Amino acid sequence: MGWVLVFAVGVAVGVLINKFRARSESAGKLLSASQDERAEVESNDAEEAFAEIFRDAVNSLSVGVVVAGADGTVIFRNTLALGLTGAVHSDVLVDEAVEVHLSGALARRTGRQVIDLFGPPRKVVAVFSSPLEGGGAVAMIEDITERHLVDTVRTDFVANISHELKTPVGALAVLAEALADEDDLDIVHRLSEKMVDEAIRVGRTIDDLLELSRIEFGGEAVKDPVSVESILQESIERVRSLATSHSIRVVMNTPDADMQAIGDRRQLVSAVSNLVENAVKYSEPDSSVEVSALVDSDWVEMCVQDFGVGIPLRDLDRIFERFYRVDRARSRDTGGTGLGLAIVRHVANNHGGEVSVTSIEGEGSTFVLKIPRFTMKKENP
Ligand code: ADP
Repeated sequence: MGWVLVFAVGVAVGVLINKFRARSESAGKLLSASQDERAEVESNDAEEAFAEIFRDAVNSLSVGVVVAGADGTVIFRNTLALGLTGAVHSDVLVDEAVEVHLSGALARRTGRQVIDLFGPPRKVVAVFSSPLEGGGAVAMIEDITERHLVDTVRTDFVANISHELKTPVGALAVLAEALADEDDLDIVHRLSEKMVDEAIRVGRTIDDLLELSRIEFGGEAVKDPVSVESILQESIERVRSLATSHSIRVVMNTPDADMQAIGDRRQLVSAVSNLVENAVKYSEPDSSVEVSALVDSDWVEMCVQDFGVGIPLRDLDRIFERFYRVDRARSRDTGGTGLGLAIVRHVANNHGGEVSVTSIEGEGSTFVLKIPRFTMKKENP
């Protein structure tokens, strides 16, 4: 991308410089002009108009452009560059980088520098340069804040995945070693049970990662009418055996049979079952979880309420991040992967909806998934 840009801007700026030269020569010629020469000068007016268009084009670029002549003097800055360089209010780091890169390009050295302007607001820019065919050099300043952010998130994600998978795999290796030296049958049983747990944990993390990437990169969500009652029912069914083993009653307040959401049935069931599973996991035995749905104008709100451990206020903003857990030990004990709520948030986004949570520590939490409602269009009378 960078070099395509260098080339395009280089060509445009080269034309500008040539037109600039041509105009100066024309002005000189006018002073002592014959008729033929005057005609030539008039045709230069058309060229000048053409140069004006090029100048507008370079001004409308989403990169800052600074052009230096062969002696290093800056002869042109486009609108974006004017905001960043060459003035009292310029950013010193960008200004300096442009200067260094312009002189580098004049000496036929090119390079690229990424500068972090901590702000606020934080901004990351790339400065790079290129020599021009007819002499001089061009430096470009590109705002790469968004790309930089995506790269950082991706790098963190890969680091997190490695950590999440390495931990149980490491535990498996240790357990297997201990097992190899063990004669006591009771201990052998206990060790092998632990190995099964760790293996299940790896499997679950991989399943959730696949589900997350399917939802994240699988293209547009299907937009079908889906019965809300059936979404709630299927989600509860998926969590039934976990709830039974925790002695937790999952109660469904059956919504109207004709209540329908617009969306992707598979994704919606995945989201609601994650919410119900969490409600069960983070509740004490013998308590209950309530699942319900209501209509709010053009939206369907699916609610999952528990009376469990609750979530501290300081963590509420972060629980939807991948691998974020309030209590690592508890998440680990309950077989959590730290990806459930990230999946829910993606499903909500894919549907143009949202997920919200209210919670009081020690009293419980309520998660609400808001999805567009399907309504039958009224027939014209
Ligand atoms: P996990 O697999 O660890 O449950 P999630 O992404 O589903 O991961 O949830 C992230 C964290 O949010 C959990 O580790 C837990 O600390 C907290 N959490 C989610 N749901 C609840 C809930 N219903 N009650 C209390 N804490 C919850």
